[in-house]
Amino acid sequence: MRVMNAARSIAFFGISVLAFAGGASCEGRRAVLDQGASAFAAAAAESAAFVSKVERAASAAGLPADLTTKLAAAARDDRPAFEADLAAALAPDPYLTFVVDKNHPLPETYEPADIVALDTLARPSFKTNRSGHTLRSLAVSALERMAAASRAERVTLVVSSGYRSAAYQKKVYERTVAEMGKEAADRESARPGYSQHQLGLAVDFGSVTDGFAQTSPSRWLEKNASRFGWSLSFPKGYEEVTGYRWESWHYRYVGEAAAALIDRRFGGIQHYALAFLAAWRNTGDGNPRG
Ligand SMILES: [Zn+2]
Repeated sequence: MRVMNAARSIAFFGISVLAFAGGASCEGRRAVLDQGASAFAAAAAESAAFVSKVERAASAAGLPADLTTKLAAAARDDRPAFEADLAAALAPDPYLTFVVDKNHPLPETYEPADIVALDTLARPSFKTNRSGHTLRSLAVSALERMAAASRAERVTLVVSSGYRSAAYQKKVYERTVAEMGKEAADRESARPGYSQHQLGLAVDFGSVTDGFAQTSPSRWLEKNASRFGWSLSFPKGYEEVTGYRWESWHYRYVGEAAAALIDRRFGGIQHYALAFLAAWRNTGDGNPRG
């Protein structure tokens, strides 16, 4: 009898514990589920906002429909990596990704402060076609890193043009107009204020003719430049997009992160990526002020 009672009370105790535990975990579970549901809703809203921002920037940048679709898909399916790519590309000096083309001039008074004369460098890994070339210091160090890598593979990069002031660009443009007429000149040369060379971040390599594309420096650059933050500005078949005919020799330093973004997300087309970043910054034309 005592044994039975003891057994019964143990059983009763056990059922109570189970009932208590069951009740507690049920409420706890509901709280966790509620939290989970609201966190899920918040994440879904954030994700939708990101996708819509990407679509708006792509549209403002005038990107083609297939690229916009691809970017929206990446925004939806690969958001953390895409956000990280964008943040990294936008983090350095804003002029690295500043759009300079026929519709987006530099501020009239813009003059880079940190111009370095290439002639002053001790034993650089690249050559120059003449003395007097200059570039912004961050482009000089990026150029030296790239040229050291190319030289290790027995390829010598020759700089034929670097920074051009507005006054110098004016001379180049007027000379080109005199030589070939205005319409042809506009496909070849930029008016002052509208040239990437005025950023002090662009370099023309080698012969500055179509023949350059057949040389080993050109082939080396095609394959390797983006690893060092350099990007071909006017690729073949994109004259309608860039406003300039194909220039196999003209590379712009955009920084390693932006160069990776251009390759990874924009099919290697610098113009698309920079126009997108400008729209993404969402400040009028998207370029930094001043
Ligand atoms: Zn050029």
